[in-house]
Amino acid sequence: MNDPFDLRDPIPAAFPAPRRSRQARVRWGDHVVSIGGDAPVRVQSMTNTDTVDVIETAIQCKELAQAGSELVRITVNTPEAAEAVPHIRDQLDRMGIAVPLVGDFHYNGHRLLTEHPAMAEALSKYRINPGNVGKGDKKDRQFAMMVEAAMKHDKVVRIGVNWGSLDQELLAELMDANGRRAQPLDAKQVMYQALVQSALSSAEYARELGLNPDHIIISCKVSGVQDLISVYRALARRCDYALHLGLTEAGMGTKGTVASATALAVLLQEGIGDTIRVSLTPQPGESRTQEVLVALEILQSLGLRTFNPSVTACPGCGRTTSTTFQELAKQIDDFLRAQMPVWKSRYPGVENLKVAVMGCIVNGPGESKHADIGISLPGTGEAPAERRFGAAATTTN
Ligand code: SF4
Repeated sequence: MNDPFDLRDPIPAAFPAPRRSRQARVRWGDHVVSIGGDAPVRVQSMTNTDTVDVIETAIQCKELAQAGSELVRITVNTPEAAEAVPHIRDQLDRMGIAVPLVGDFHYNGHRLLTEHPAMAEALSKYRINPGNVGKGDKKDRQFAMMVEAAMKHDKVVRIGVNWGSLDQELLAELMDANGRRAQPLDAKQVMYQALVQSALSSAEYARELGLNPDHIIISCKVSGVQDLISVYRALARRCDYALHLGLTEAGMGTKGTVASATALAVLLQEGIGDTIRVSLTPQPGESRTQEVLVALEILQSLGLRTFNPSVTACPGCGRTTSTTFQELAKQIDDFLRAQMPVWKSRYPGVENLKVAVMGCIVNGPGESKHADIGISLPGTGEAPAERRFGAAATTTN
């Protein structure tokens, strides 16, 4: 064990490892969202409206974009939904919302993309799930039709594998091969291999068809935190495509938030992941934008991006006299978020502002020293006072 008091024993600062992926560029008009390479880790989300309902879907896309989602995915599952897509795009353009739309396709994507060229054009990116493209000899043909549509319209493709809809033919093939091994791998290992191989062999096939590798993004979503970490580490070792990161079926509320943050933080810290989606199940009455807020917080907490001023509040303890400091912290947080759309352009750098709200003046002023503005409410038996630390003032009134 090292000498605990040895100043020559360096304590290196922790920081996320650099990312090494290719860069894909998703466009709508002049608006470009670069994903991968040296681009910031992007936030994306998905609507839960019926795509056929143009107005409701356009409104939700707008809300998600305004909350900070840099791409928004919509389901394109029927000819009616495909017909609605250009109108949704049009509504967004009229509202001045340039967020690129991503189409989510399963089973009939090849037909929809071919038979609805206006939809294929209005989308900026197509999500193809290799497990839901078709079976047998249809699989390659239908996958090829989708890739050809992407090439024709110059769109980026996400090859998005999902453990719940994993290519069963590939899985069976790998299971058989594993059974013939002298020392077979366990079933989980075979599942990991199948997820990664499904994504990477589909990407290879798309390249054989002529798709530029810079137009390919990969994802392999699973619902277990440790499984996701294993699979994405393997993906990052085996390819340099931009990676879309997210835990599938993360769940509701605290469980979904914590599971997503835990998995994504580990990978992002290792430099793995170029765009994230937090797949939260909204709680009754909860806004769909909650998944975007969680994604932003994950990136901001890791120091990867800064979106909003941070409001730090102490947890409170026996010294706290009332809930006033908690209410104050919430009011300040809500106020700052509400001001950001205007402040962002009026006060460049305002997102770096740090505010601390503490519940007593014994520890509060010291704990809020690193904030630009520190407020410590008097705790039990404490008299109001004001202290100044450099540029920051701490008031305890
Ligand atoms: S700042 Fe004061 S009130 Fe808040 S947790 Fe620390 S000691 Fe308790």
